[in-house]
Amino acid sequence: MQAVEKNAKEVVLEKLNKKPLIISGPCSAETEAQVIETAQRLANTGKVDMLRAGIWKPRTRPGSFEGIGTKGLPWLQQAKKLTGLPTTVEVATAKQTEDALHFDVDMLWIGARTTVNPFSVQEVADALRGADVPVLIKNPINPDLELWTGAVERVAKAGIKKIGLIHRGFSSYGNTDYRNAPMWHLAIEMKRRNPELIMINDPSHICGRRDILLEVAQKAIDLDYDGLMIESHIDPDNAWSDAKQQVTPEKLAEMLDAIVWRKEDVNSEAFHAALEKLRQQINHLDDEMMQLLSQRMKLAEKIGQYKKENNITILQTSRWNEILERAFVRGEKIGLGKEFITKYFDAVHMESINHQNKIMNA
Ligand code: PEP
Ligand code: MN
Repeated sequence: MQAVEKNAKEVVLEKLNKKPLIISGPCSAETEAQVIETAQRLANTGKVDMLRAGIWKPRTRPGSFEGIGTKGLPWLQQAKKLTGLPTTVEVATAKQTEDALHFDVDMLWIGARTTVNPFSVQEVADALRGADVPVLIKNPINPDLELWTGAVERVAKAGIKKIGLIHRGFSSYGNTDYRNAPMWHLAIEMKRRNPELIMINDPSHICGRRDILLEVAQKAIDLDYDGLMIESHIDPDNAWSDAKQQVTPEKLAEMLDAIVWRKEDVNSEAFHAALEKLRQQINHLDDEMMQLLSQRMKLAEKIGQYKKENNITILQTSRWNEILERAFVRGEKIGLGKEFITKYFDAVHMESINHQNKIMNA
């Protein structure tokens, strides 16, 4: 008995060290037959490492399907028995955590709506104390790396050894192309701060629709993510939750085949030499750009001095508009997008204002 259990834990750890790690399954477990058929069809693709299913569903508005609850856990046990796929579910309370562990769920994840709430994360962490189970932590719904980090720390302090991250995008008001804007830079920064944690991408909840799943998954792979969690359903259009973003197991397999899997590295001296040369050029340009920016700030300080002497405001909207318009026109000619120009000049402008502020209020 002991030996068998140890084996199951080893299998899961092995999967977690595999790259890419592919996790798939329905947004929600709905019926035993649905869970088992999904698992079998996923297993048949030979491309999926773990089975996911939501048992308790945090829905934004009441009245929609809020998960089958604990009675769905034995279905997952059965699916694992039939297919060999280890299982993973989302937990948000102590009771859910205890139940999931009681029914041998192999890995747990903390959802975006839980990561935002330190009370809830702590409650789950306390329930995890003493458990030997990997835990993945989704980014919080709002773009706040400290909350994400705090959740990692709470779970780590509970003694959980294997922790990973899931990037599922960040919510914003109004309609956008995405259900949750990816804000890739935040996930990249989180990866930079925590190189020892695996980073999984969840295209399903980023996209909220099927047609752009592949594009987002490819981008994640290009950014060296460790794996993907993608929702799949035997009858996506009639899924009880997140119908628009789910795909059949067979469609998932097609998508995984369409992805160009990149390596982080190759053992070729010529490749490394060429890369090194280009990287040196980039470093050189970065140095130059910083030097130029520093010069630009010195000019801004001089202007600040004049403004101070003549008692004029720092911000002059018409001048700011002129700078931006000029930059858009030039940017378009040399292949720099409007969004980038706006972000870049916003940052430069703010730094200029800070420099002038110092001079004027010295
Ligand atoms: C889910 O994975 O089904 C889910 C509820 O995701 P999130 O926490 O990203 O909203
Ligand atoms: Mn979902």
